[in-house]
Amino acid sequence: MLDRDRMRLVRVEEVRDESPTVRTLIFRDEQAYRASAGQFLMVWIPRVDEVPMSVMLDPYDREGYAALTVRRHGYSSTALYNMQVDGMIGVRGPYGRGFSATDGNVILVGGGTGLVPLLRLCRVLSARITFIMGSRSRDEVIFEELARRLVGSNGRVVVCTDDGSYGLKGYATDALKTVLDDTIGKKGERVDMVYTCGPEAMMLKVLRMAHEYGVEAQASLERIMKCGIGLCSSCCIGRYVLCRDGPVMNARDILALEEFGHYARDKSGRLIRI
Ligand SMILES: Cc1cc2nc3c(=O)[nH]c(=O)nc-3n(C[C@H](O)[C@H](O)[C@H](O)COP(=O)(O)OP(=O)(O)OC[C@H]3O[C@@H](n4cnc5c(N)ncnc54)[C@H](O)[C@@H]3O)c2cc1C
Repeated sequence: MLDRDRMRLVRVEEVRDESPTVRTLIFRDEQAYRASAGQFLMVWIPRVDEVPMSVMLDPYDREGYAALTVRRHGYSSTALYNMQVDGMIGVRGPYGRGFSATDGNVILVGGGTGLVPLLRLCRVLSARITFIMGSRSRDEVIFEELARRLVGSNGRVVVCTDDGSYGLKGYATDALKTVLDDTIGKKGERVDMVYTCGPEAMMLKVLRMAHEYGVEAQASLERIMKCGIGLCSSCCIGRYVLCRDGPVMNARDILALEEFGHYARDKSGRLIRI
C-alpha cells in the first residue's frame, strides 16, 4: 500500500460560500497540496459515503493546504456541503492522471465545479491563457476574481451566462467559437491546446469544435468512482478505467468512445443514457 492510499483524517479549517449552492472547504494536507492539476481525492464523509472530488487550490496559496469545492446536489455532496469548521473528513489520493501543460497560446473552458481542476492548471501554465467560464446565471458565477489573478495581465477571462444576467450572454461553447474564429481565423495565430472540464454535453461540443479548428484538446471526465486505484472498474468507459487512465484524457481518445456524451454506467455497472 502506498502512502497516498492510506486514509488521512483532515480537519476542515474554513468553509467559504462561493454561490448559493457551492462551497469550498479548506484543510491542511501535504499530499493534496502537491496534487497535479486534474488529479482527484477519494473523500470519505463519515457515516455517509466516499466520493471522488477534484483537488482545489487553497485560495490563500499557503504551503501544505488544499481544498474541495462542492456543489450541493444529492446525498453525499449535500453532506459534504453541510460540513462545518472543525468537522473531520477522510481523504485518500491524489489519484489519476491530470492535465499535461503546454506553452504558447491556450484556451480553458469550464463550467460549475469543473472550474476546479482548471484553476489548479492555471497556476502551473506558463502559456498565455484565455479562460472561458460558463454558468447558468449571475448567482452561479464562481471564482471569477481568482481566475483573473491566476491568468495574470498576459491572459484574459471571459465570463458567460446562459441567461445573459452577467458577462456575455450565451454558452461557453459560443464564446469558444468566437475566440477560435478571432485567434485562428482573423489574427492567424496558433492555439496550442484547449483544456476543458464541466458538463459532459459541453465538453463534447468543446472537443468537436477544437477538432474542427485543428487544435489539440484535453478534457477531465467524470464517472462513478469507488476504489480510485483501478481495481473495481466502476468507472470504466470504453476500454479505459477512468480513475487510473484518466480522469484527464486527450480529445482523440475521448472522441473515439461511443459512450462519451451519450451513456454512463450506474452504480450497478449498467449503461444508462445521460
Ligand atoms: C474525478 C471527479 C472529480 C469530481 N470533482 C468534483 C468536485 O470538485 N466538486 C463536486 O461537487 N463534485 C465533483 N465530482 C462529482 C462527485 O463525485 C459526485 O458525483 C457529485 O457530488 C454528486 O454526488 P451526490 O451524492 O450529491 O449526487 P447523486 O448524483 O444523487 O449521487 C447519489 C449517490 O451516488 C454515488 N455517486 C454519485 N456520483 C458518484 C461518483 N462520481 N463516484 C462515486 N459515487 C458516486 C454516491 O453514493 C452518491 O451519494 C467529481 C467526480 C469525479 C469523477
